Amino acid sequence: MDALRRPAISDAEETLDPTDWSDVRALAHRVVDDSIDYLRDIRKRPVWQEMPAEVESVFEELLPHAPTPLNEVYQQISDNLMPYPMGNIHPRFWSWYMGSSNVTGALADFLAAIQGSNLGGGNHAAALMDSQVVNWCKEMMGFSPSASGTLVSGGSMANLIALTVARNVKAGVDIREDGVDAVEKPLRFYASDQVHSCHRKALEALGLGNKALRRIPTDAKLRIDIASLRASISEDRAAGFQPACLIATAGTVNSGAIDDLEALANLASDEGLWFHVDGCIGALLAIAPANAYRVSGIARADSVALDPHKWLHAPFEVGCVLFRDASAHRGAFAVSQEYLESTPRGLASAEWLYEYGLQTTRGFRALKVWMALWEHGVAKFGRLIDQNIAQARYLTGLIEQKPILELVAPTSINIVCFRYSPDGIEDAARKALNIEIMLRLQEEGIAALSDTTIHGEHCLRVAINNHRTRREDLDILVQEALRLGALLTP
Ligand SMILES: *Cc1c(COP(=O)(O)O)cnc(C)c1O
Repeated sequence: MDALRRPAISDAEETLDPTDWSDVRALAHRVVDDSIDYLRDIRKRPVWQEMPAEVESVFEELLPHAPTPLNEVYQQISDNLMPYPMGNIHPRFWSWYMGSSNVTGALADFLAAIQGSNLGGGNHAAALMDSQVVNWCKEMMGFSPSASGTLVSGGSMANLIALTVARNVKAGVDIREDGVDAVEKPLRFYASDQVHSCHRKALEALGLGNKALRRIPTDAKLRIDIASLRASISEDRAAGFQPACLIATAGTVNSGAIDDLEALANLASDEGLWFHVDGCIGALLAIAPANAYRVSGIARADSVALDPHKWLHAPFEVGCVLFRDASAHRGAFAVSQEYLESTPRGLASAEWLYEYGLQTTRGFRALKVWMALWEHGVAKFGRLIDQNIAQARYLTGLIEQKPILELVAPTSINIVCFRYSPDGIEDAARKALNIEIMLRLQEEGIAALSDTTIHGEHCLRVAINNHRTRREDLDILVQEALRLGALLTP
C-alpha cells in the first residue's frame, strides 16, 4: 500500500548541469557584460536608494518548487537586487568601515566557485595558494616565515581565533580538555575603551565573560592610556585575577586611533601577557610607504588580526590571523579524526588546514587576494592606503576652514569625525540635526556616512576606505552637508 502512495521515481538520472551548455554560455556572457557596465557606471548611480514595496515583496516569496528558466531568474536579480546594493563600492560610501571590492576579486570569486575546492585541506593547488596568501600576509606584517596563520571570514573571526589561542596558552591548565572551570585564577584581558565589539563577543563565546575584558580609558588622541593600563593590571593581580592578554588596536573603528604598539609590546613582555594586535583597520599600514611608521612594532605581537576585505578591497569575506608561535596556534585547534587521516601519497597527503581554526569546510578565499596582488603588485595597495589617508587630511582641512563645521576627534589615519554645529545649539538638537543631515545625504543618494559618539560627543563619521574616492567627492560632501545644515536649521 505504502509503495503505491510513493511518488513515481523515474529511472533517468538527473544533474544540476544544464542540458544545453550554449544557453548557459550566452547567459554567462550577458552577466559579465552587465557586471562590467555596472562597475564602469557606478558614479552615475546613487550611493544608496530605498527599495519600492514591490521590490521588497520579491524577497517574501516562498520556496520555489517548480523550475524557472535561468534567464528569468537572472532578470529578477538584474531588476530587483542589483539596483539596491549597500553601496560600499560607490566612490562616496564612507559608512562604518568597509572595503570597496574590485573586479579582479569578483572574477576570482567566480573562478573559485567554478573550481569549487574545499580549503579544509588536502593536496591540491588551491590549498597551496591558501597557505601562500597566509605567507604573503606574514611578509606584509614583517612576521618571520616560521610564523603561522589562517584565512578566515573576516576580522571578527580572526580576533576570536587569536583570543582563543591567547586564552589557551595563558590559562595555565589544559583548557581544551578541562574547560574554563579548571582555571585557578580568573583570566583578565585588557583593551582600550575604543575596542571593537567583536572582542566582547569573543570573550563571551570563550566562556570568560564580558567582565573579563577590561576597558582602559583613552587619552585625547583616543589611544589606550598606558599608566591606567599598568594600574589596572597590578590592581587585578592584587585582587587575585590572572592578567592574560593585552589587545592593542591599530586603527580604532571610531576614529582610527592607533595604540602605541612599541610601548604596549614592552609592557606585555614585562607583565608576561599575550600581546594581540587588532589590526583590522590599520595592520595593512605596514605596506603603505608614507604611513608604515604608525604601526612600527606590530611584528612584535604574538598575534595579529588583519582584514584583506578592508584595505586590500577583496570582495567579502576574507580576514587573516597570524601567530608568531606556530605550535601555539596549531595546539589550540588540532584534532585527529579517523575520517580525516593523512596518507603518504595522493589527495590526503598534505596538511589539513582545518586544524588552524574552527571551520572544517573552508571556502577558497585566497584566490581573490592572490589575483589582485599579482595584477597590481603590493606597492600599489600601499599607495592606495596612503591616498586614503591623504584624502582624510584633505577633508579635515576643508572642515577646519568652515567655522560651522567642528572636528570632534583628531584625524589620525582615514577616519574623520565632525559635526555641523551652529552657535548656541543644544546638544540634543545638534545630534538630531546631524542625524537628519546624514539621513538626507543617504536618501538623496549623495553620500553614505555613519555616526558615532566619542567620549560623549555625538558626531558624523567619514571612513575613507575606498579606492574610488577622489578629492572632488569630498568637496561634494562638505558642500552638501553645508547646504543641508542650512536648510534644516530653524
Ligand atoms: C572591522 C573591524 C573588526 C571586525 O572585522 P570584520 O571583518 O567586520 O569581522 C574588528 N576590529 C576592528 C578594529 C575593525 O575595524
